[in-house]
Amino acid sequence: MLRMKAPAADLYRKLPSVDELLREPAVASLVALEGTAVTTAAARTVLARLRTEIAEARLDSAQLDLALGGIVDAIDRELRQSLAFSLQSVINATGVILHTNLGRAPLADATIEQIRATTTQYSNLEFDIASGERGKRDVHVQRLFARLLGDGTGTVVVNNNAAAVLLALNTLAEGGEALVSRGELVEIGESFRVPDVMQKAGATLREVGTTNRTRIADYERAITERTRLLLRVHRSNFEIVGFTEQPSLEELVALGRKRNLPVVEDLGSGALVDLHAFGLAGEPSVVDSLHAGVDVVTYSGDKLLGGPQAGLLSGRKEFIARIRQNPLFRALRVDKLTYAALAATLLAYVRQDHDAIPALHMMRLTPEQVGLRAGTLAAACSGGKLRFAVINGESVVGGGAAPGATLPTRLVAITAEDLTADELATRLRQNVPSIVARVEEGRVLLDLRTVFPHQDAALRAALLVIGA
Ligand SMILES: *Cc1c(COP(=O)(O)O)cnc(C)c1O
Repeated sequence: MLRMKAPAADLYRKLPSVDELLREPAVASLVALEGTAVTTAAARTVLARLRTEIAEARLDSAQLDLALGGIVDAIDRELRQSLAFSLQSVINATGVILHTNLGRAPLADATIEQIRATTTQYSNLEFDIASGERGKRDVHVQRLFARLLGDGTGTVVVNNNAAAVLLALNTLAEGGEALVSRGELVEIGESFRVPDVMQKAGATLREVGTTNRTRIADYERAITERTRLLLRVHRSNFEIVGFTEQPSLEELVALGRKRNLPVVEDLGSGALVDLHAFGLAGEPSVVDSLHAGVDVVTYSGDKLLGGPQAGLLSGRKEFIARIRQNPLFRALRVDKLTYAALAATLLAYVRQDHDAIPALHMMRLTPEQVGLRAGTLAAACSGGKLRFAVINGESVVGGGAAPGATLPTRLVAITAEDLTADELATRLRQNVPSIVARVEEGRVLLDLRTVFPHQDAALRAALLVIGA
């Protein structure tokens, strides 16, 4: 059938004006609900889209009539989209507890209560209530850190661990050299390269040893009058296996003491408790490093600590005081939300209420506990076009913990009659809320360790719809 194309001018004439649209009762009620500005903008966007389609000859007269019939719905959809938050919650079914792309550590409920209590009103952020004078924002977490790390220690808070490393190196090594083992020149994610940060800190990097072997004698030989500090970087996202050699922290500290050089350790993840009790071996804690004699330790607030994004510098008071006096601190300091969230998280540690911190609670779940929920989910969703099995697998700690840091878990493995595993994963991702899963060997794998129990119902509902 040959359909005559109406000239474009005729089509344009069919388009209503924005004013006409706003007078439509359904659009007027959108205005009443959401306001004139956003509704008008949505109407303009929808009209502009139709004009483009006419200009590109993608609409004939009948198709345009159809589109105009649904124009109110289109405006409504456009309005919803324009008012929706881009940042939204997702269901993390990957089993990666500290997933950098999914916001790292989820915050404890107590942190949100403390944020609400202190940031929706005025606070004593920099005000000393006893004296009525100006105070320092640091005090709000210093006492808590001292309780956890020891009275002789000080702690400074900046925006993230990259900033902490920058501040430490700039304070202690600007204009001089920092010695670091060649094997520790890591790149974390796409954005944190130690050599680049050191350069911006005004410190020269002096690599010692080879990629897989660095001895304490290599450090000692490299020390000159320009050397300012010895740097140790925790190997967060890679492991050099096989024939490797690295001096112990104690050896490095002994050399630092002997040559009067501070030892700085970029710990990355920075656990505040001994994680052996959580089934994780070999992940150094901040206290371990400080006990070994490290002068300044830098670590993230939103990795194993389980709090808000922050960079922490903890260590000997004289060094921390110098770091605090660096003018760069002013550019890197954090706001009241971070202090509130960090203090509430630290208080859970002081109380030893580790289950209040979601990341730690997830680590403590046994495979049996995860498996029970996995079995319930599989049973509730079976019978449709999806096939379920509960299998053994591993959860990943992530977030700069040792790459081998895994925990045994139970996974829900899913295949679909009419979808590939990738298609099924896409459907899950398109759910509201979005569900992020792993795909392995032609199956979608869900690890409920990182799914909050209150999200199980949403997960079940999504699987029932997809499998129907
Ligand atoms: C994660 C990590 C960083 C970067 O920390 P951010 O808080 O993301 O800035 C730096 N060093 C190490 C060793 C890390 O693991």
